[in-house]
Order: sequence, then structure tokens, then C-alpha cells
Amino acid sequence: MTIHSQSIENRLQQTLSFEDALKILNHSEKGVVLLSEKFEVVMVNQTLERYGCFHREADTNTLTSDMFRLYEEKRKGLRFPLLEWLTSCANADGDNHVSPQLWLKSPSNNSLPVTLHLGRIDFNNRLYWLLSLSDKSWERRADAQQKLMNANHTGQFITSSSGFITHPNDAFLNLTGLDASTLSSLTYIDWLKKQVSLQMPFDKVMSTLLSQHHWAGEVEIFTETDEQFKAQLSISMLVDPKNNIEHFIGLLQDLTEQEEAQATIEKLSYYDRLTGLANKSLLHDLIESAITQAEVNQSQHALLYIGLDGVKIINDTFGHRAGDDLLIQVAEKVSQKLSQLPHDTTLARLDGSNFAILYHSNNQDRQTVKEEVERFSEEMIDAIHGRYQLPQGSVHTSASIGSCIFPISEELDYAADQILSFADMAMFEAKKQGGNQAFLFDTSLIEKAQKRLELIEALNHSEMDEEFQIFFQPQVDGNGNAVSAETLIRWFHPVLGAVSPSKFIPVAEEGRQIIKIGLWVLHKAFLQIKAWNKNRPDFRIAVNISPVQFHEQSFIEIIIGLVKFTQVNPRNVTLELTEGVLIKNAKLAMQKIQHLVSLGFEISIDDFGTGYSSLSYLQKLPIHELKIDQSFIHHLRENPDDEAIVNSIIQLAQSKNLKLVAEGIETQQQVDSLISKKEDIMLQGYFFSQPIPASDFEGRYVMPSNSRAHSA
Ligand code: C2E
Ligand code: MG
Ligand code: MG
Repeated sequence: MTIHSQSIENRLQQTLSFEDALKILNHSEKGVVLLSEKFEVVMVNQTLERYGCFHREADTNTLTSDMFRLYEEKRKGLRFPLLEWLTSCANADGDNHVSPQLWLKSPSNNSLPVTLHLGRIDFNNRLYWLLSLSDKSWERRADAQQKLMNANHTGQFITSSSGFITHPNDAFLNLTGLDASTLSSLTYIDWLKKQVSLQMPFDKVMSTLLSQHHWAGEVEIFTETDEQFKAQLSISMLVDPKNNIEHFIGLLQDLTEQEEAQATIEKLSYYDRLTGLANKSLLHDLIESAITQAEVNQSQHALLYIGLDGVKIINDTFGHRAGDDLLIQVAEKVSQKLSQLPHDTTLARLDGSNFAILYHSNNQDRQTVKEEVERFSEEMIDAIHGRYQLPQGSVHTSASIGSCIFPISEELDYAADQILSFADMAMFEAKKQGGNQAFLFDTSLIEKAQKRLELIEALNHSEMDEEFQIFFQPQVDGNGNAVSAETLIRWFHPVLGAVSPSKFIPVAEEGRQIIKIGLWVLHKAFLQIKAWNKNRPDFRIAVNISPVQFHEQSFIEIIIGLVKFTQVNPRNVTLELTEGVLIKNAKLAMQKIQHLVSLGFEISIDDFGTGYSSLSYLQKLPIHELKIDQSFIHHLRENPDDEAIVNSIIQLAQSKNLKLVAEGIETQQQVDSLISKKEDIMLQGYFFSQPIPASDFEGRYVMPSNSRAHSA
């Protein structure tokens, strides 16, 4: 509420002393004359004096129409009969009267639209008249200005030239808890003394304000309702061209919100949004301070890098929302477990399905710390391992944990980033070994990782035709005749030498170079079998297909293109897939397999028995062959479990009428044992031949007179 919109009469009635009343009148933005009961002028306020249109006659206090240059019409010089109007109001009913619109002539002869208000007030049991003049154009301007101020969340006030706070906006009233009428009786200096605690001496603030016309600083506000908050206050002094003070303008900004926003920003930048756990940045800082602490007091710490197993499959099957649900549940489970343990730890979420725990040990003996961290890692693995209930169904997950104890060694230079990547390397090892286990970092892993990097580099720069070759290994029937060849790639790198496919294929799958490699192999293999089929029309070739290659969007189109281009007969080609292929996107995988089969290819499941334990998918798939994994063959005679597995795979193949291949045959006993179990089993292994180059293979097995396989 501002002075021009609140009835001055009301406010005068509330004012205690006559002096105060005069003070308020004097600072009113309306032109005001206080009249006695008999219309004698008691006071004329500053505003009215400023208009310059009030002419007091020296010898009398009695109000006359001549004192005001008021006209009834804008252009015609018809004077408004002020005294008659006042008298008629005094004789009429009611305490408040309003004139019609009148025109006030300013000293510069401008006509301003005004209305007069006459109010009757009692003061100390005496009757007064308050005649106020409201300037319509000024009011409209002030209204607009006020609206603008009120729309602002920053507290604002404007003072009169003498410093009285005449125009506070709503935000200023809210912040200070004071109402407009109280403020209008206060100068901004009174307000500073009443509510504001400055961080510098008051005199300094004032001298800055007066000399530089501006002062700003952080202050503390103490409100009437005993609230207290930090704020930014700025006061500007506006002067006219002659350097007379016109107004002071104050801006008061509550810093509480800003501080809260700052805290929120901090939270966003240091905490994970999904789980509310510390994020990587915060963890990074904490590792840095642990490194410093270790330097100071020889304390020992560990970083556990936790990767959830199989989350990708859960995401692919149920969608990312389900994956997020799982992450939240794991975060809760681990937090709860940590709260039950006595260790000093921080749990953080790194990215995707990776978490980390920073662990501070109380021990200093390296071996003890190692055992302690190993035990702790096991506890975490047990805590995470299990089923989780998601809206889409229940899923199972486990964790692979890589841990890195630091200080690492005196020779190794490391910071938080290195600790994270060392623990990550160890986690990678744990995953490689099948997951659901822990692995402790040691410096040999750095060498291993470097080798991997070398491989990636070499793969990216490899020239397929110059460095790669395909070798062939025979598959023989029960009579020892080679009926088929498995294509196995060989890489001879100019610097690294011969690199085994079991080393570089996983790396090439991760970097997707396998797509290019796989295409190259298929092309070569198709040309080769086409050539061999001229002499041996029934001879077959088997080609390994990586899951990454298989799931590539254009895989089927590429195969169709290659068949057209090479004119190979797909009926002579077996595509070897692993069980893992069928887990991801099972429906699409099934469609792709059906498509391949409709083209004439046969499908073999490689390394059978090691992967996905459920055999239910076999019922639905149009496959032709199972390849028993060599791990079961190697210990066939010694290990009854392996024997049992082999027996059940044989049974399965028989019941589904599938061809069966046993790979990794190295001894005559293995041959005998397998043939005794299943006569028409096909055999493959070093016992018959190592994988060999095409020309050797052709000479030994493809020419009609040489089709019988010999032991190597
Ligand atoms: P795989 O498809 O299961 O191939 C059988 C592996 O066992 C071959 O290893 C072969 O040389 C080896 N092997 C054969 N007989 C015996 C034996 O009697 N004893 C022992 N200990 N091993 C035997 P290799 O050539 O090192 O290939 C390893 C794996 O690399 C292959 O396993 C296959 O998964 C992958 N691979 C090889 N070539 C390709 C390819 O062109 N494309 C794709 N995607 N993967 C390939
Ligand atoms: Mg294979
Ligand atoms: Mg295999």
C-alpha cells in the first residue's frame, strides 16, 4: 500500500501526535492543504508547493478561490468556485467529498487534470478539513511505476527528496515485515538503523553514498517478527542537474534463496540425481583428499569399483526405466549394508551401472589391509547378489568388484583419476572371469591394459589383406573322413607377431572392428568353399559369427549381398553362433536366424553348454547343429560331471535330431569314447589337425583321393 492509494485521513487518524500528522502530510505525494473548520489554511505540503500553483496571500490564512488556479474546462477560462464547493460539501452529508474533474494551471501554463478530495477529520477533538489534490496524470504514471516495482521480487523503495520511504514495493514490505504507512514515516536512514546490520561503519556507508551517489553491500536484516536473513542492499542517490537530492532508491535482495540455489547447484554437481549418492566429481575430490591424508599420516585407503553384471540385458529386455529402478534398489541395499558395518566408507555412483566405494582403513600394515579389503569386497558381493523386484518382473543381478588399495607404490605416480582407472581395470578382470567376484589391482594389470591399447591401435590401422589370413581345421565323421572345415582367422602383425583370436576378437568386438573383420572372413570363406565345391560338391565350411556382427542392423542384407556377389551356395555353409547371441533381443535374433535358414544356411551353436543355461530357447530355434564345448571334452574320461554333461548334450541332440560336433579332440581315447556314445558324431581337434592355411588344407582334405583325415 502506498501513500497515494491509502486514504490520508485514515492514516492521520492513526497517527499519534499532531507533529507526526504534519510530517506525514508534508511527505505525501499528493498536494495537500490542511484546513481548519472554518477553512483557514493550517499547512500546505511540499508537493503542493512544488506544483507552484498555490498562491497564499500574505495577510490572511483564509482560503480563497484565487489561491488555486483551478478551472472547470481545459481551454475556457472558467474559474472553479472553490470556496462555494467547500461550503456545499461542509453542508452536505458524509465526511468525504470528491469534485468533478478540474484543470490546474501550472506556472508554465500547462493544464493538468486533477480532482479535489475533501475529507473531514477529527484531531485531538478538533475538526479539520483535509483538501487534497490528486493529479491524474501523475497518478497514472505512479500506478504504472508501482506495478512495475511490485512485479519485481527484489525489494525496492523510493524515497522523497528528504529521504522518507514513500514508495516501497510489495517485495520490500514482505521482506521487512513493515507496512507502507510505517515506512512512510521513516527515512531510509531510520530504516537502516532499525532493521539493518551493516558490515562496515555507518558513517562510511553514508559518506560513500553522498560522495559517489551509490553504495552497495551485503547486510543482515532483522525484521519486526524476529526473522533474520542475509541480503544484498544497494542505495542510489538521484540528484537534479543542480545537484539537489531528488530521491534515494533502495534495492534489497534476499540472499537466502540465492544461497539455497547455490546449495542446490552444489547438490546437482556433487550428487547423483537418480540415486542421491555422491557422484564421480565428489568421489574424485574425496579420493584426492584421501591421497593427501595418506601422505601425511601413512593411512591406507581403498577404492572399490563396482560394476553390476547383466544390466545391459535387463535394459535391453525391460527398458532403461527398469534398469534405473534396479540401480536405485542396489544403491539402497548397499547403503543399508554399509550402515550396518563399522567401516568408514563413502558410496558413490559413477556412471551407467557402475558404483564405487571409498574405503578408509584403520590399519597400516599392507597385508592386513589387503585381507580386510578382500573380506569387505566379498561382503559387498554378497549384499548385491540376488533377485530384485521390478514392475516388469523380477531380475537377478550380481556385482564384479575391482579394488585398488592406495598408496600404491613409491615408483608409481598417481592421482584420483589413476586410482579410478586402476580399480576399473581390476573390475574388468573380475568381469572377464565371469562376474560375481572381486579382483584386487596390481601393477601387472597396467601392462595388460597397455597391451590391450596396443591391440586396439593395431586393429585400427591393420590392413586386412596383408596382415590377416584364414586357416581351416577339419571336422571328420565317425569314419575319419573330413566332411567340413571350420574357418579360423589368424592375425600376423608386423610388430606384435601372431596374435591369437581369443585375444583380439573380444577387443575387436568392443571396438566394433569385428564388423569389418567378420565381413572380410565371410567373403574369403564363401569364395573358398565355392572353389572347393567344384571338386567336392558336398564339402561344407563353418564360419564363426560374432554376436556384435550378428546384431548389426544390416547383417542379413550384407549376407544376401555376399551370396549374390560370390555365387556361393548357402547350403554348404554353416554359421556358428554362440548362445549369447540369443539372449540379447531374443525376438529379433529369432527372426534373423529364420531368415538365414530360409536362405539355405545351417546354424550351429558353438561352445554349447558354457553359456545361457536355459535350454528352452532351443525348442523354438530352427538350428541344425550343436558343438560341444572343448572344456567338457578335455576331461571327459576323468571328470564324471563333464561326462554327464556330454551325455545329456548327446541325448538332447538325438531328441531334436540335431547334428553334433565335439571340438578340442586331442586323444584317441576321446575319439573312442565319443564314437561309442554316438556313432555319427563329428570330431574336430588337434588329434586330427591344427588349423592350417587353405593351400595345405586343400592338398590334405579336399582333393578326392585325400579326404581321409590323419592325426596331426
Ligand atoms: P572356436 O570357434 O570355439 O574355435 C575353436 C578354437 O579351438 C580355435 O581356437 C581352435 O584353434 C582351437 N582348437 C581346435 N582344436 C583344438 C584342440 O584339440 N585343443 C585345443 N586346446 N584347442 C583346439 P582359435 O583359432 O584360437 O580361435 C579361438 C576363438 O576365436 C574361436 O573359438 C572363435 O570363437 C574365435 N574366432 C576364431 N576365428 C574367428 C572368426 O573368424 N570370427 C569370429 N567371430 N570369431 C573367430
Ligand atoms: Mg567356432
Ligand atoms: Mg568353440
